[in-house]
Amino acid sequence: MRRGWLALWSAVLLMALTACNLAESSAGDKDKGYVGLAMPTKSSERWVADGKNMERLFQEKGYKTDLQFAEDVVENQISQIENMITKGVDVIVIASIDGNTLTDVIKKAHDQGIRVIAYDRLIRNTEHLSYYATFDNFQVGVQQASYIEEKLGLKEGKGPFNIELFGGSPDDNNAYFFYDGAMSVLKPYIDSGQLVVRSKQTTMAQIATLRWDGALAQARMDNLISANYSNANLDAVLSPYDGISIGIISSLKGVGYGSANKPLPIITGQDAELASVKSIVAGEQTMTIFKDTRKLAEKAVDMAESIINGQEAEVNDTETYDNGVKVVPAYLLPPVPVDASAVEKELVETGYYTREEIGLK
Ligand code: BGC
Repeated sequence: MRRGWLALWSAVLLMALTACNLAESSAGDKDKGYVGLAMPTKSSERWVADGKNMERLFQEKGYKTDLQFAEDVVENQISQIENMITKGVDVIVIASIDGNTLTDVIKKAHDQGIRVIAYDRLIRNTEHLSYYATFDNFQVGVQQASYIEEKLGLKEGKGPFNIELFGGSPDDNNAYFFYDGAMSVLKPYIDSGQLVVRSKQTTMAQIATLRWDGALAQARMDNLISANYSNANLDAVLSPYDGISIGIISSLKGVGYGSANKPLPIITGQDAELASVKSIVAGEQTMTIFKDTRKLAEKAVDMAESIINGQEAEVNDTETYDNGVKVVPAYLLPPVPVDASAVEKELVETGYYTREEIGLK
């Protein structure tokens, strides 16, 4: 009985302490500023990490934060931003779901004196966007395609090889940058016949994957294989994102790829999500593009702080990102290609993952 009470009191004390901590950490210091963080979805690790990293950094600096995830539903994201406006935030950092749908809500924010930063994905058709923090998105595509170019020995004239192309979400401005970057490397080989796209699907409209959905990509790969590869082998797949690569790999394994006499093709990816890093180590996905979300979070926090302090934020690109109304001043971070040989150096030594998380011995 005495033991029971002791346990109960300890639990109550623990709950009280935790509640206290939580209250402190989510409240931050109201005087320094209040920042809304509108993230697209929790279904992909990277966005969870982006949101949490920013939340932590802002709170450490004494800002109050409101972090929201919209589960890839545009209307959710709009109402979350509307709530942030009502709550009276000073700045809203937005990683949009559909970069074409926020014109009105951003106008509302602007009318309340709230400034907006686009995070990773450009927001289009608004003049009221202060800054854009992102990675060099064209370079992401270049790196994915250059990896294929090198592994297949295309520069040395090898080929012909069969390749299929996957694109990102057509409502995400980044998807076009990834595609254009990749095609800047691949198109000459497709034109010369060194690379053959048996499906003939090469335009962004033909290869796009709405909302970056791995299941959609898997279904498309199933169709591509049954229509074009019953007696041909697929040598490479350009995939723009790890979640899409996972769908592609399931489809290919379903028709016998991944065995000794039918190896998986070269498959690219992006984001260094844990499941894909494990897949790379296991020899299934071939590479990914590592975008250090910790650094992007730091950039966005710097931008918001500059705004709140009435200063200009540091940018390194004032030409590339025309959102249809204005060229948005941007800071571009460098993406890093990672294959099995680089996992240790780029992802473990940088502290992004532990060896245990990846399952390395
Ligand atoms: C991001 C990528 C991500 C993709 C899917 C893009 O806007 O730049 O890093 O893979 O969205 O979430």
